[in-house]
Amino acid sequence: MKLVETLAAIEALDLRHAELLSQQEQAALRAKTDPTVRQLRQRRAGLETLGQQQASALRQLEFEVAELRDRVKTHEKAIYDGSVRHPADLQRRQHELQTLSGKIGEFEETELAQMEAQEQTTRELTETTSELADREREVEQQRTADRGNASLLAEELAAGDEERRQLADVLAPSVMRIYERTAARRRPAVAKVVAGTCTGCRLPLAPRLLQEARQDHLVTCENCERILLI
Ligand SMILES: [Zn+2]
Repeated sequence: MKLVETLAAIEALDLRHAELLSQQEQAALRAKTDPTVRQLRQRRAGLETLGQQQASALRQLEFEVAELRDRVKTHEKAIYDGSVRHPADLQRRQHELQTLSGKIGEFEETELAQMEAQEQTTRELTETTSELADREREVEQQRTADRGNASLLAEELAAGDEERRQLADVLAPSVMRIYERTAARRRPAVAKVVAGTCTGCRLPLAPRLLQEARQDHLVTCENCERILLI
């Protein structure tokens, strides 16, 4: 293999190495937490609290309506069983009955609106619970796949490291230093020459450089400093 071809092979291994590391990092992140699951759990907890508050408010309202109805019964009983003797008392009780009936009507309207709100909460809770279950299943499948993939990733990393070591062994340390220095600044560090042009920066190259590159010398682009592969 020519010198620059070897460098290009090393670079391909380096890029693959970085990609494999990133895959490992992503899998490690997925093993820890899933933002969507966390968000859905928070939403579900919020809806559960809201549902409990709504149920308790509704119970309170039902209790108040029942109390009002008891008062209505008491007045009606007194009016119809003849125990009310004085007309003023009768009038007072009839007036009280009207007021109570108005209040009961208002309370029942509120009750109806609250029941609708409660139903809405229940619907949202059902949707969120099902969405959460779907997402949790997805995450678990992904984690299972990640665990299965982990050993393959590790194997490929080790094999790549070994191959790189062998390739680097045949090159002079000074050549490797130039490659490392270029790679630290820009990727790819090795750029192909196509039609006399550096594909790294798309600028034409001086004939002198092309000539040297053809002789498998380590030549860098005068513009972008990439190592030229011809
Ligand atoms: Zn260039």
